[in-house]
Amino acid sequence: TTKDIEESERPVDKLIGGLLTADFDESSCLSRYHKHFLYRKPSPYKPSEYLVSKLRSYEMLHKRCGPDTKAYKEATEKLSRDEYYASEANGECRYIVWVAGYGLGNRLLTLASVFLYALLTERIILVDNRKDVSDLLCEPFPGTSWLLPLDFPMLNYTYAWGYNKEYPRCYGTMEENHSINSTSIPPHLYMHNLHDSRDSDKLFICQKDQSLIDKVPWLIVQANVYFVPSLWFNPNFQTELVKLFPQKDTVFHHLARYLFHPTNQVWDMVTKYYDAHLSKADERLGIQIRVFGKPSGFFQHVMDQVVACTQREKLLPEFATQEELKVNISKTPKLKAVLVASLYPEYSGNLTNMFSKRPSSTGEIVEVYQPSGERVQQTDKKIHDQKALAEMYLLSLTDNIVTSARSTFGYVSYSLGGLKPWLLYQPTNFTTPNPPCVRSKSMEPCYLTPPSHGCEADSGKNSGKILPFVRHCEDIMYGGLKLY
Ligand code: GDP
Repeated sequence: TTKDIEESERPVDKLIGGLLTADFDESSCLSRYHKHFLYRKPSPYKPSEYLVSKLRSYEMLHKRCGPDTKAYKEATEKLSRDEYYASEANGECRYIVWVAGYGLGNRLLTLASVFLYALLTERIILVDNRKDVSDLLCEPFPGTSWLLPLDFPMLNYTYAWGYNKEYPRCYGTMEENHSINSTSIPPHLYMHNLHDSRDSDKLFICQKDQSLIDKVPWLIVQANVYFVPSLWFNPNFQTELVKLFPQKDTVFHHLARYLFHPTNQVWDMVTKYYDAHLSKADERLGIQIRVFGKPSGFFQHVMDQVVACTQREKLLPEFATQEELKVNISKTPKLKAVLVASLYPEYSGNLTNMFSKRPSSTGEIVEVYQPSGERVQQTDKKIHDQKALAEMYLLSLTDNIVTSARSTFGYVSYSLGGLKPWLLYQPTNFTTPNPPCVRSKSMEPCYLTPPSHGCEADSGKNSGKILPFVRHCEDIMYGGLKLY
């Protein structure tokens, strides 16, 4: 058609509106440049010029301070001596180390959060590479590396102490014990932002905390939550964030497309699967089914919920009556491909059975695919994690998406794709929730365990009521913060 010709002639915006630098060799990471345009429609969300320029200056800073530089060597030597500074550590380079933990969805959300915090505070992000990060993702910054060298002194601490609230340089604990102030600056601090974190851990983003933390050359972060929404509580950050992201619900969408480029091995899985099963469809629907709690597995009430949601929201057709069958015969049927992601292969099996036996009321042909059914989470096993990443990417390439409440796997998939998802409520008492799902008004991930209140001026105020665009999430009962 003319439309197709027009589309194929349109100059391909390889750098996604300047989000990506042109300074990389293409073949080392096929997913980074033109290749993904064969699969993804151009995003309607454009990065701001301010974000683009900030990313370019970040890249220069990372090059000056990254591993293999004199600055990095000096900074790690000081760290090993572990002496307090009287006022402020000198040197241009300050770092934030991301420690890997939890499932892949959690990891990607926290990586993006830590990176944004690094952008705002002019720190260098370095990534704990004892796990399989480099088997999953290409390097995001040109001419340097984001992988923390394995001989980094503080990583041994993980075994000796464990990074937790009891760790002597845990910021939240030091705060609670009043054992930290700006007269003596430690060479490093550990930031604890997990589900068992206290407000004192979560509110490190406030200005009064930042004025001290800013002087500390090394931060080590362990997190499993998307803490980006809380950054807005600091007025200084907010001023910057509004310029970086004038469309507030695009933060993860942009950062993920900037940071997360699957390695050639993973990209090969994505493209082969897409070409074989999804490319010829007129429309693609993604369904991600995560069953939390024990026992976990295939449940009829979850299956019923998926069908109820997709039919009610007209994402999948109803089954045809005799009358409709006659009417539809003359039409050329539309082909709808459904991509199911779940640990349990029974979900796609059931959907296939349903749609292959009974014609649909719209005459559409529904084909159901599920790339894997791993049954159990096996985080840190290379091939397992690669499959998980490939599926998140495949889901992000669909036209509409249904994901499970509270699942970071789902959050990454829809946000990367720039899609507002239908969120399947989490069932209670093994029954199908009614309504089964809700259409999200935002494509941002949810910060599942946010601080209960805000920073100085807003302390005491419920954190979901401070800013009009930082509100409670649709998919969890209590708390949760999300950008809208
Ligand atoms: P969350 O637990 O749903 O928030 O998501 P995470 O990604 O953090 O952790 C779940 C992990 O279980 C994933 O990273 C995978 O290792 C595995 N997993 C869960 N659901 C799926 C799925 O649909 N497909 C694949 N391949 N793996 C899954």
